[in-house]
Amino acid sequence: AKELGRNNCQFYTPSMNESALERLRMERHLRHALEHDEFVLHYQPQVDLRTGRIVGMEALLRWRHPERGLIPPNEFIGLAEETGLIVPIGAWILRTACMQNMAWQAAGLDELRIGVNLSARQFSQKNLVDMVATVLQDTGLPPHRLDLELTESLVMTDVDHAIAVLNDLRSLGVQLSIDDFGTGYSSLSYLKRFPINVLKIDRSFVQEIAPKSNDAAISDAIISMAHRLGIKVIAEGVETEAQCEFLSRNMCDEIQGFLFSKPLPAKEIEELLREGQRL
Ligand code: C2E
Ligand code: CA
Ligand code: CA
Ligand code: CA
Repeated sequence: AKELGRNNCQFYTPSMNESALERLRMERHLRHALEHDEFVLHYQPQVDLRTGRIVGMEALLRWRHPERGLIPPNEFIGLAEETGLIVPIGAWILRTACMQNMAWQAAGLDELRIGVNLSARQFSQKNLVDMVATVLQDTGLPPHRLDLELTESLVMTDVDHAIAVLNDLRSLGVQLSIDDFGTGYSSLSYLKRFPINVLKIDRSFVQEIAPKSNDAAISDAIISMAHRLGIKVIAEGVETEAQCEFLSRNMCDEIQGFLFSKPLPAKEIEELLREGQRL
């Protein structure tokens, strides 16, 4: 028995122990965070390139940790996804974002579209469509002002299933976006089969944009192809005037990025809207 015990011990190196423990600790903390209102949404404006006006917002999750401060989503979304906690957290995100949008409207500000990210785990939930319908009903947000963002890999894993779910969501009247376009399959031919309204060109593309570069040609092709399919294009991660000018010249519909504004807490967004800030 002593020998066996020693052998068993070999499997538990200090580093494995630590990471397993850290995971467990994080999972417990995530659960605690949801129960104790430690999550908060920041919002990033989306600006119409023709008018220069804010037409939408993307809701982006942050964790206001009592000791560690504001934690960005990349540090905990993965674990939330693995543990399934993203399902209740995601429902909270959707409800909060829709409520906030209606609150801005009630405060006399322009009617805006609100973008909400959906994770793979949420997308595979049987009651997703019901959940979205309930939130729309409860908050009173007109469905066409909700824009659900899905990644390419999420819809490409099981195309037939994805199309069925997307059609159900479209029946509610909500808008659907393909997020991070250009980082995954990027198959424009597939796009025809998906009932989507918006393509969001990934930041990695936008960053490389300069006249004559390959990426410039690709962005140009993506935009014209999307338009031919009746799909609107939003460029993400726009940081410079040059990028903005290029996108504007190439008929991109909207931009989102640090050039106009970083994601901000609801209060600061409200000030920005009140000032009527334009591009
Ligand atoms: P994403 O959906 O692609 O969101 C855009 C990310 O780019 C955001 O990072 C945003 O702050 C950042 N960004 C925007 N403009 C610029 C820019 O001009 N330059 C640079 N360098 N970055 C810019 P964030 O908020 O850290 O979110 C990271 C990712 O975490 C998101 O990528 C999304 O995949 C995930 N995420 C965020 N919020 C949620 C959520 O509510 N639900 C789910 N499922 N995932 C979320
Ligand atoms: Ca997104
Ligand atoms: Ca994105
Ligand atoms: Ca991204």
